[in-house]
Amino acid sequence: MIIEADLHCHSLASSHAYSTVDEMAAAAYKYGLKAFALTDHAMAMPDSPHVWHFHNLSILPQKINEVTVLRGAEVNIKSSDGDIDMTEFDLSNLQWVVASCHLPVIKPGTEKENTNAYVNAVKNNAAIDVIGHCTVVRYPVDYEVIAKTCKEYGKFIELNESSVQFGRSTKENCVDMLRACKKYGTEITVNTDCHYAALIGQTPFTEKILESVDFPEKLIFNREAARVLEYVSKKHNII
Ligand SMILES: [Zn+2]
Ligand SMILES: [Zn+2]
Repeated sequence: MIIEADLHCHSLASSHAYSTVDEMAAAAYKYGLKAFALTDHAMAMPDSPHVWHFHNLSILPQKINEVTVLRGAEVNIKSSDGDIDMTEFDLSNLQWVVASCHLPVIKPGTEKENTNAYVNAVKNNAAIDVIGHCTVVRYPVDYEVIAKTCKEYGKFIELNESSVQFGRSTKENCVDMLRACKKYGTEITVNTDCHYAALIGQTPFTEKILESVDFPEKLIFNREAARVLEYVSKKHNII
């Protein structure tokens, strides 16, 4: 495994995922992960939990089975203006925020429109930490513009295992994205986006792609959980 912290994971609170938080923490411990982020879908998705799910995450222990559980969400980008489906108040309870484009919420546009959706989300929402699965084929984007903007605004870009594994992202898109990140020195997170506990932390497909472009290890932010926890505690002041 190349990561110590898996920063995009769904529990059965998103109804197309199948594991409880405890099952995920047990699997994470078994595989040697030190942290994972619980990032169920925010409210604009049809399978999302009620907003109270996110407000109440603070009742969970910060550590389960010695594994740190970050309280997060996968928010939905709603338009090319970059507006998202959580308020500042909702976001203030969270320790890790992935922002993604999903078909039920935003229709694919031109390359420029899709790029603007990500770029404006990054520019207008300080709470967003990482751009999720922007290698998905149905939303063509300009990786140069996204990588440059994320570097400028101190955001991460995700290399998403499950979208590669299940055919929604191409290897070519991942390579283009990684090359742009390498060029601008933009840090990435390698995440599973797992929907089942046994898949947490497992990144065989994306590891091969990283090797194929000789991607610098120092730009993989979640290789070390300590680095992630330091960032989260500085930004949100809550761990
Ligand atoms: Zn997603
Ligand atoms: Zn997801």
